Amino acid sequence: MDIKTPSNPSRKATARVKNPLPAPTQCHHCSGLVRIGTHEEVYGRDYSDWPYVYLCEGCGAYVGLHPFTAIPLGTLADKRTREARKSCKLPFERIWRSGRMSRTEAYKWLADKMGIPTDECHFGWFSAEQCQTAMTHCNEWLSR
Ligand SMILES: [Zn+2]
Repeated sequence: MDIKTPSNPSRKATARVKNPLPAPTQCHHCSGLVRIGTHEEVYGRDYSDWPYVYLCEGCGAYVGLHPFTAIPLGTLADKRTREARKSCKLPFERIWRSGRMSRTEAYKWLADKMGIPTDECHFGWFSAEQCQTAMTHCNEWLSR
């Protein structure tokens, strides 16, 4: 049997990920070493059939993986970053859920506002500061 793990990822799933980020080896928050951990370690239980994370041994920052790959979903997030990503994404979601822009258009619009390429415009890639900037742009748009 061919058991898939992050060290033996699915080639098909890996090929499907557009613009993959490299696997983190050192934490950009604390310079700690990063290893593969599991959902159980960070959430207390496994949440999917790909229950892996990159986990910093220093500060506990983590990020999940695209299913059946070793590709991180974003950059390592400490508690502050995780909370910023969660709360700052809400006004963004209100924009495209309003139907006044499609989700794709909304990402293009936000990338333009933030001066970054559209394929780098993901809340999972943002720092806490970038999340705040994104939220400010979204709230301005929503209050127009
Ligand atoms: Zn760290």
